[in-house]
Amino acid sequence: MAIYKDVWIFGDYRNYFQNRVTLQLLSRGKELARDLGGNICVLLMGSDITEYAMEYIAHGAEVVYAIEHPDLAEYQVETFTRIAADLVHVYQPEVFLFGATSFGREFAPRLAARLGTGLSADCLSLEIDPETGNLFQTSPAFGGSLMAVVVTPHKRPQMATVHPGVFREKVHDYTATGRIIYPDIDVEIDVRVELIRSRQSISKGIDLENAHTVVAGGRGMESQAGFQLLSELAELLNGQVGATRPAVLAGWAEEERLIGQTGKTIKPKLLLTCGTSGALQYTAGFMGSDAVIAINKDPHAPIFQHSDLGLVGDVRAILPLIIEALKKRI
Ligand SMILES: Cc1cc2nc3c(=O)[nH]c(=O)nc-3n(C[C@H](O)[C@H](O)[C@H](O)COP(=O)(O)OP(=O)(O)OC[C@H]3O[C@@H](n4cnc5c(N)ncnc54)[C@H](O)[C@@H]3O)c2cc1C
Repeated sequence: MAIYKDVWIFGDYRNYFQNRVTLQLLSRGKELARDLGGNICVLLMGSDITEYAMEYIAHGAEVVYAIEHPDLAEYQVETFTRIAADLVHVYQPEVFLFGATSFGREFAPRLAARLGTGLSADCLSLEIDPETGNLFQTSPAFGGSLMAVVVTPHKRPQMATVHPGVFREKVHDYTATGRIIYPDIDVEIDVRVELIRSRQSISKGIDLENAHTVVAGGRGMESQAGFQLLSELAELLNGQVGATRPAVLAGWAEEERLIGQTGKTIKPKLLLTCGTSGALQYTAGFMGSDAVIAINKDPHAPIFQHSDLGLVGDVRAILPLIIEALKKRI
């Protein structure tokens, strides 16, 4: 008989502590589970994972399904997919959520296809419809020109990926209790891809998600020299530099600085966004910012609809003036 009540989160611990998306999903997932009358559960696969299981319980998980095996020490998408699909058939969760990490983006679609269910990518909001129990999954659609509310009415589980930073994690409670279940499952590693070596990339201290001030630039910065101005300003403001997709593609900023639907979600006290048009895929990444100031030479640029203060003019003329004024004050 179908259970279809629990909310599952994929326990993506690979870049913990830097990447807190599992904890953020636990926070929102718990509210969804309450609305459904089910449990909030984490699926955890790996080797030596008890510590993560305890961490997830401290952050609200009621049940952790732990698949502990030395051969799972490295993430392996084929094996993870097979195990997760088997467990979904046994436990039948209603909702299954994944962080839109590099692995989550590879794993979730593969699993959804295996299960024959739907998946919404890069959701910005998740709500339960009280009438039907369906999950309203809001994500940018049609190239980002509109927000679509996606439902999966006929298939289960309802699956979605969510970017780090969209939801806020709750404060941990190490007195919280939960169950760790070790399902009796075959962990046979039968893969077509052999992992030869894995190496951690150094993030060069870029921490956009937690920055109090972000100075971001887009195509309108026009060059690497334009981004030098942003770096100088960010340094004066003790902030971080962010970028839009075209600026990253042009090589003016590193991929880790990308803000938006396929990049980071930021919530700074102040965002100064320069030479950016205000495409939905970009603005989706800074909706939670306290104050937004935009500089654009086009008075009709949509970015002004997303900003508290707008300066119409050439960034190359305005930024040096701001930098000069700040230098005088310091
Ligand atoms: C599936 C999908 C996902 C995407 N994800 C992302 C994402 O995560 N993040 C992201 O950023 N984009 C993303 N994009 C791309 C997005 O749609 C836009 O193309 C992009 O955000 C536009 O970047 P921009 O504002 O820098 O460039 P443009 O849209 O070209 O805007 C440049 C702006 O600069 C202004 N300007 C030009 N010169 C000057 C000057 N000298 N002084 C002042 N202003 C000037 C112009 O008036 C213009 O408004 C995605 C697209 C798709 C289809």
